[in-house]
Order: sequence, then structure tokens, then C-alpha cells
Amino acid sequence: MRLKRLWEKLTELIFPHSIYCICCGNIIDESRPYALCNDCMEHFRWANERTCSKCGKLLSENNTKELCYNCQENKHYFDRGFTCAQYGVYEKKVIFNLKYKKKTYLSKIIAEIMYDRMLIEEIKYDIVIPVPIHSKRLKKRGFNQAELIARYFTRLEKTTLNSKYLIRTKQTDVSKKLNSEERKLNLINAFNINKYDKSDIKGKNVLVIDDIYTTGATADAISKILKNAGVNKIYFLSFVAGGDLIIH
Ligand SMILES: [Zn+2]
Ligand SMILES: [Zn+2]
Repeated sequence: MRLKRLWEKLTELIFPHSIYCICCGNIIDESRPYALCNDCMEHFRWANERTCSKCGKLLSENNTKELCYNCQENKHYFDRGFTCAQYGVYEKKVIFNLKYKKKTYLSKIIAEIMYDRMLIEEIKYDIVIPVPIHSKRLKKRGFNQAELIARYFTRLEKTTLNSKYLIRTKQTDVSKKLNSEERKLNLINAFNINKYDKSDIKGKNVLVIDDIYTTGATADAISKILKNAGVNKIYFLSFVAGGDLIIH
């Protein structure tokens, strides 16, 4: 087992990462966009069809409204959400490789996908803030994937990254499957503003970045705090979004 891991580490050093598909791990042509093989690229549910005008999720076929079912029933505190793909089997693999297999270099490719996604939107923002994770989880995992993605994203965008302003004050249990209401309750007092960070964000427009958007409970909890701090507009950008199509 150890040898296998060592071999994996060595091959990562010898070969550039982009020769492997970020989803299935098959060897690919280096010129493949986003380092996705043809099969994974085709199976990805890109959010380029009809999307919710509030949260940005793909709308289910039988939903003729402009809002997804979740947004029809819930008031959200952010101004607008955007996402790149619908959370499914293929998208899950990429997230799993990043978060749990600790392939942190994937954050760079994910940031490229998110950067390209935002090119088609005409919104302006001054600061990019990643969704923070609790210090205990950070210690355990070794990195905050949202921060890594936001770091590469701001390099491409040439905008300001602020990963210190917002802090996570409560750790939530990720192993539990929670419904929308339970998520909301779970996130009460989960975030706060870092009193040592003196950034002035009053009147600014902020883009919050995370890897996944589900019910919007995290985005709302953060948005309430940022709006109270005087932020003007809050946009939320995720790599993948899921929930609405799965629940309904
Ligand atoms: Zn693949
Ligand atoms: Zn929605």
C-alpha cells in the first residue's frame, strides 16, 4: 500500500498532471481542454442550458419557471449565483479527487473552468472571498479547497483575494445527510468576521467562491454577515451545484 502511494507521488512528480483526466484518471492528450478526457467531457452536465435566474443551477425539464424549485420556495440573501456544472457522478469524482485524494493541483484547473464561466457574465466585483473552513478541518485536511480555487481564480481575473476577512467559527458535521431546514439550523453562527482583519468592504461588490453549492444555506449564512458589514452586492460562484434536480 505504501509503495503504491510512493509510486503515485513519484509519477506525479515525473509527469505533468495535465496528462491525466482530472475526472477518471485516464491518460489524455495534453491539449485536452480542462484536462478532461472526451468521455468525461461529454458526460459532464455543464450549466449551459436553462439555468435558475437566482442561484444559477440547471433547471429541470418540467420546470418552466425562471427559478428552480428551491429558489421558488426560499428567499436567498445573495444577489446572484453562478455555477459551472450540475453535481452528478462525473462531477463528484473531480471533487473527490481534490478534497479527499488531496490532488490539490486540480484546484488550478477548476479555477480555469470557473474563470471561463464568468467571462460570459457581465457582473463586476471588487473582492473575491472563498468560503472558509473551520481551523480544525483545515488542520485535518491540510488545505481549504475553496481558498485554493479562489487563489488561482484571482490570478486569472487579476482581482483582489481576501481569504482572512471571513472565518468559520463552528464546524459542521459533513457525514450527516441534512435537509434544507437542518442545514440552515446547522449554519447559525457558523461564520463570522475576523475582528483582526481591517479590510474595508463597505459598499464593495463581493464574489464568494466555493467548490459546491447545494441548498444555498452556506451562501445565505455568509451573505447575511457580509450584508450586515455593508457589502453592496454578493455573488456566489461554485464549480458544481446540486440539490434541486436530485430532490425533485
Ligand atoms: Zn476522463
Ligand atoms: Zn435557484
